[in-house]
Amino acid sequence: MKTIPDALFGLIGFPVSHSVSPAMQNAAFKHCKLDYLYLTIAAKPEELQNVIASMGPLNIRGLNVTIPHKIEVIKYIDSLDPAAEKIGAVNTIVNENGRLKGYNTDFGGFVRLLEHNRIAPAQQRFTLLGAGGSAHAIALAVCNLGGHLTVLARQEEKAKDLAGKMCLRLSGKTQGLELNDTNLEEALADTDVIVNCTPVGMGNLAGQSLIPPRLLRPDLTVIDAIYNPCKTRLLEDAEKRGARIINGLEMLVWQGAMSFEIWTNQKAPFRLMMKEAELALDENKK
Ligand code: NAP
Repeated sequence: MKTIPDALFGLIGFPVSHSVSPAMQNAAFKHCKLDYLYLTIAAKPEELQNVIASMGPLNIRGLNVTIPHKIEVIKYIDSLDPAAEKIGAVNTIVNENGRLKGYNTDFGGFVRLLEHNRIAPAQQRFTLLGAGGSAHAIALAVCNLGGHLTVLARQEEKAKDLAGKMCLRLSGKTQGLELNDTNLEEALADTDVIVNCTPVGMGNLAGQSLIPPRLLRPDLTVIDAIYNPCKTRLLEDAEKRGARIINGLEMLVWQGAMSFEIWTNQKAPFRLMMKEAELALDENKK
């Protein structure tokens, strides 16, 4: 009986124990009759280099990369695809005969989320809360598709830096501002789509929101990159005010589906992956 899979894949991060990625990737491999196995690899920053160096010897064909390694990992891989290079962060690595190439499927995952929800960014005004890794990927997606962008972050420099990088692509249609009451009110008065790219609303920040309910309106679309809980305080408040709401689960599953396609050259079974991710989230709640 065959006991060793043909190839290994995994998620490296810290912590990773509650990730839904193994459930959705292993289900997708099985569905496509691929004898592959996807594991979680909990690695602290000081262990990152060794894990990446072990991809060849251990026949690890691909990895997803999550917090806190998405930027640091770039040091240890051989080449980047153009989106990962522009974003400056990698969430997917493929081992091509010993040479490691980095991709950023958070970017493509957000593009697919927009397409799937029939949101056409051209000429739409987006306000992003936060200027970290996910905000970089989402900002690039918005700007590439012709959207106007305001970045609000608690550290003004980071907001300006992200908006500035995007401005090179979209002159005059981006701005970065400090996240404070005045800027928030002014920006949202002139916004079609809000995207929360901060952890406010999950973990020990569950039940909190950066936006006072009075600033939310029925004509807004409010997207939260958070998927656990599935309805954050921001989304609850937005729904009560009549806005359209979308959580981060679709983005997560699309990014996983795109990683799967990069690794296997096969079309990912998106619906199955979504179902498995939802089941794994329910399981985590028990
Ligand atoms: P990150 O790189 O650490 O960036 C987090 C951003 O949030 C930073 O700008 C940070 O500001 C800001 N922030 C943190 N705490 C804050 C607070 N209390 N008030 C205001 N701003 C605060 O993290 P990330 O990778 O972008 O992830 C952000 C969120 O998106 C997480 O909840 C993550 O789970 C989610 N996410 C979802 C997906 C998906 O597929 N759905 C993908 C990626 C991420 P400072 O720089 O000042 O700390």
